[in-house]
Amino acid sequence: MGFLDKLRELLGGSGKAGTAADGDPYGLWFYFRCNKCGSVVRIRADRRNDLNREDGPGTFLLSKEVMDNKCFQLMRAEIWFDSQYSIVSSDVTGGKLITREEYEAAAS
Ligand SMILES: [Zn+2]
Repeated sequence: MGFLDKLRELLGGSGKAGTAADGDPYGLWFYFRCNKCGSVVRIRADRRNDLNREDGPGTFLLSKEVMDNKCFQLMRAEIWFDSQYSIVSSDVTGGKLITREEYEAAAS
């Protein structure tokens, strides 16, 4: 993995546009859709600061309040991760978690 990153650097390519990993190794990006108006929101979490080690279905818990800029309804997200920062389960009140592809399709 490290080798491929090096190679990518050497080739001078910035990789895929918008990949959060570039220059942001601690960033985790989440995409939400508001249940009320259908707006999509992108949220960055920092795995050093925003994840709490808790007892539950996963290793880490992220609690976030998310607001879109259309109807301003607050969404509450609780997302559990395993030790590899993969999502184990998620619960979003007032909205739902969507994929980056869905976000980009809706935001463009
Ligand atoms: Zn909304």
